Amino acid sequence: MQIKRRAIKDIKISIVIPSYNEEKNVQVLANKLVDILKDYYDYEIIFIDDGSTDNTLSELKDLNKRDNKIHYISFSKNFGHQNALRAGLDCITGDCAISMDADLQHPAELIPQMIDKWAEGYNIVYTIRKENKKDSFFKRKTANIFYGIMNYMSGLRLEKGSADFRLMDKSVVKVLRNFKEMNIFYRGIASWLGFKQYGISYFPNERLHGETKYTLRKMALLAFNGITSFSILPLQISTVLGATISFLAFSYGIYAIIIKIVANKAISGWASVMVGIFFLGGIQLLMLGIIGNYIGKLFLEAKRRPNYIIEETSLS
Ligand code: UDP
Ligand code: MG
Repeated sequence: MQIKRRAIKDIKISIVIPSYNEEKNVQVLANKLVDILKDYYDYEIIFIDDGSTDNTLSELKDLNKRDNKIHYISFSKNFGHQNALRAGLDCITGDCAISMDADLQHPAELIPQMIDKWAEGYNIVYTIRKENKKDSFFKRKTANIFYGIMNYMSGLRLEKGSADFRLMDKSVVKVLRNFKEMNIFYRGIASWLGFKQYGISYFPNERLHGETKYTLRKMALLAFNGITSFSILPLQISTVLGATISFLAFSYGIYAIIIKIVANKAISGWASVMVGIFFLGGIQLLMLGIIGNYIGKLFLEAKRRPNYIIEETSLS
């Protein structure tokens, strides 16, 4: 049932759309959004061209010429989806911000419902993607595993299928602007923030044009980054594992001494020694890797580099 809507022109909705090589999608999406919003709200639509190598930027300039409420921010190179989101949130001037993908997988039709929930007093309205049978089995399974591990390790309650399609009140956006961490992971942060939150489910559309930019490598990086941004559990696991193995090795040493004294039997076996050495070596390298990763993060944070560089923008 369609709720009867009255025009509330003094409310301004900001829409933030990271776009990386989406030349065929941005116009379609912009038209759709304008149709949905124009009669009811004041709006601004901010596209972030994340260093696209196709005609995305000229398409965006076209849009801006036609409608001065549609803006673009163009990065000097590809800084990644999350940084594009950040740039958008840094620039919005509306009363709330809605972030969504450029490929029309996030149904714009859901926006009025999200705004209604916000008007009811929820500070964050997030969306939950229902399983899309058309997504490959592999993508669905890896996504499930990711959310399982992520929640377990970080103590967050990220719902499976949560994506970066969400509405946030401007007060929440203000809080987010103070998060200066590199490699920000908005999905986790939004859940961690608290506030009054509401979730809406939807079935995703198919990507209109182009291909997914989340290759397996990017997904794995995002997952690993998500986990190590929110949790030091891997470090704790390595401590426990180290302690357990040391204890077992120590017990085995005692056993070897006792058997030597009591039964005067030397323990023979070259293989068992080698297995032990390799096993411990492997574990040590693994743990060093985990620790190194956290140190790497500290290193990146310590440099305090900017998270994105804007080459040109239609925003003043
Ligand atoms: N995106 C971006 N920078 C990147 C990769 C992706 O801005 O380096 C944008 C992309 O244009 C899209 C959104 O992020 O609007 C989600 O990407 P995609 O649709 O490829 O991911 P999927 O839906 O397959 O998870
Ligand atoms: Mg997509």
